[in-house]
Amino acid sequence: CGIVGYLGPKEKKSILLDGLQELEYRGYDSAGIAVISQGKLQHFKAVGKLENLRKKAADFHSDGPGAAIGHTRWATHGKPTELNAHPHMGAFSYVVHNGIIENYQELKKELESEGVRFVSQTDTETIVHLFERNIQKGLEPFEAFKETIRRLEGAYAILLISEAAPETIFFAKNGSPLLIAFDGDEVYFASSDTAVIGKAKEAYYLEDGEYGYAKPGEVKLFGPEGEKELHTQPLPSDKAM
Ligand code: GLU
Repeated sequence: CGIVGYLGPKEKKSILLDGLQELEYRGYDSAGIAVISQGKLQHFKAVGKLENLRKKAADFHSDGPGAAIGHTRWATHGKPTELNAHPHMGAFSYVVHNGIIENYQELKKELESEGVRFVSQTDTETIVHLFERNIQKGLEPFEAFKETIRRLEGAYAILLISEAAPETIFFAKNGSPLLIAFDGDEVYFASSDTAVIGKAKEAYYLEDGEYGYAKPGEVKLFGPEGEKELHTQPLPSDKAM
């Protein structure tokens, strides 16, 4: 339902929680955040209000370079439980997703037959396992991500982070809104600009079929015809405008 992401040196938990709070009006049943910073992967999830997540993550702070993603879930596949809340984890990666992966049952069967164990009932969990399988096959992280989204049918806005590429956020959009926003070298992602207004100065609203990655000093955008230039537009400096 709601997606946020952040790449930069600021304290990541508060950026994610503040961003998710701005998306609260859309409704949700659970929420979660995941951070990879200085080689450490950490995540927190909670059912119900963001306040529950805030309490769970009260002692967690993450300064320094790193990548972070967060999500408020409106369940479509699987009950609103903590296990089904995003981010979904593999062995070394996390994904958040808005929308519905229509062919998830087929993908799940395929992965299970190769020995992958699923812990949630969601369609989303297939994404992170597909990605990690592609890494294990020897693909470079961005190739692994491309190969993952090539297999997905349905509507999605996706952010994925992985120890295989620390300080990188992989993103893809098809049928669910996603934007990328900038404040100097800092990069933000969100499903709606209300989450980044007042923080980022300019934004690009992704089109269907677009994907790419962001890492410090480099953001690459691709569409069905290959690499694209990323043209941003200014964001208002506060919500009143
Ligand atoms: N289909 C996913 C789920 O049920 C994402 C739902 C959403 O957009 O919040 O977990």
